[in-house]
Amino acid sequence: MTRALVPAFALLLIPLAAAPLARAGAPGAPPSPHSRGDTTIVAASTVLDGRGKVLHDLRIVIAGGKIVALDSGSGPADYDLRGLTVLPGLIDAHVHITWSFGPDGKNAGQNGTTPQAVYASAANAWATLMAGFTTVQSVGAPADVPLRDAIAGGAIPGPRILTAVEPLMGRGAASGPPDSIRAFVRRQKAAGADLIKIFASGGMLRGAATLSQEQLDAACDEARRQGLRTLVHAYRDAVRAATLAGCTEIEHGLGASDDDLRLMAERGTYFDPQAGLVLETYLREKARYLGTPYYDEDAFTAFARVLPMMHELLRRATRIAGLKIVFGTDAVAGAHGRNADELVDRVRDGGVEPMAALVSATGLGAEALGMADRIGAIAPGLEADIIAMDGDPLRDITAARRVVFVMKGGVVYKDAVTR
Ligand SMILES: [Zn+2]
Repeated sequence: MTRALVPAFALLLIPLAAAPLARAGAPGAPPSPHSRGDTTIVAASTVLDGRGKVLHDLRIVIAGGKIVALDSGSGPADYDLRGLTVLPGLIDAHVHITWSFGPDGKNAGQNGTTPQAVYASAANAWATLMAGFTTVQSVGAPADVPLRDAIAGGAIPGPRILTAVEPLMGRGAASGPPDSIRAFVRRQKAAGADLIKIFASGGMLRGAATLSQEQLDAACDEARRQGLRTLVHAYRDAVRAATLAGCTEIEHGLGASDDDLRLMAERGTYFDPQAGLVLETYLREKARYLGTPYYDEDAFTAFARVLPMMHELLRRATRIAGLKIVFGTDAVAGAHGRNADELVDRVRDGGVEPMAALVSATGLGAEALGMADRIGAIAPGLEADIIAMDGDPLRDITAARRVVFVMKGGVVYKDAVTR
């Protein structure tokens, strides 16, 4: 069976609740000829389980939106994914899901308040889901919250979203004393934050640390007390400071020394160094970014210089024993739905083994979100987030760009498998 893809623009014109193609057992859903009651069966010949194992010739049994069993039976299946590579839904630890181009075609940043921007955000979510990303962490914008909730409520299709709401912008002493930083963290929690985003550095080439050790300690400690994780934008000295402060995950990390990376490994701090998607997006979409806030000619000169530095950092990081490198793209306007390009970059340019790259975007990614008991693996008890790639990503990582099947929570959103 070949099913034509629904173009993203068309989606916005039809009732969004109609988007899921099928849901086993849902009221009104036609019974599948192969369903056993409320169960759905997916047949696969090759499964990367998300935890580093390759499984062969099995059927994934799904009920109530969850994987309930893996069996070796060869009976009929509702979805035959044999000949493809089946994986858990991918996880992107760092996106800006509301960042879009405005009506004039130019970068409009994260402003998600106009009707045009709201539709653009919904389109970003759809593009991300269609690329096989079933969970993303958006860090952060207040406009994430209604999008997250609309998707979680089943009103519109998209990845599961975790959001930081308003980030803590490090501004040195202007960020305030520790007590006001703690109050800021509690305000984000009250506003619905799933985690706290912290800017602890200025620009990528020269910017200095923008929070003192005492301020960072307060931010990450208060988040922990509130049961929230912390994601810290950090370069150079700020990498060590964030690690010492016990923050959960460090983003970017240019200028980190091997000693800094070893300290992160010792402390169990997750590291998310991007290998290219965001800079490639800026360079490809230069005309749409140039002249918008922060994007002048000097910035573009810096982007071209920084790209090889990011590759060097990732190559170095992969050689640090025990360092937990997770997958985040920093996707901005023009990058949503291209998230898998970052997997290609990490393998091709960053020296990451394909299996390690895929685990960083599944099982390890789930662990970093504190959600390993819900997502990130093909295993009984977990959400039925199941995707299929056309090709073998272990031999050719560009297969990650060819996601032809997407199920999230047991609902099939994409079935472009040629049968
Ligand atoms: Zn970012």
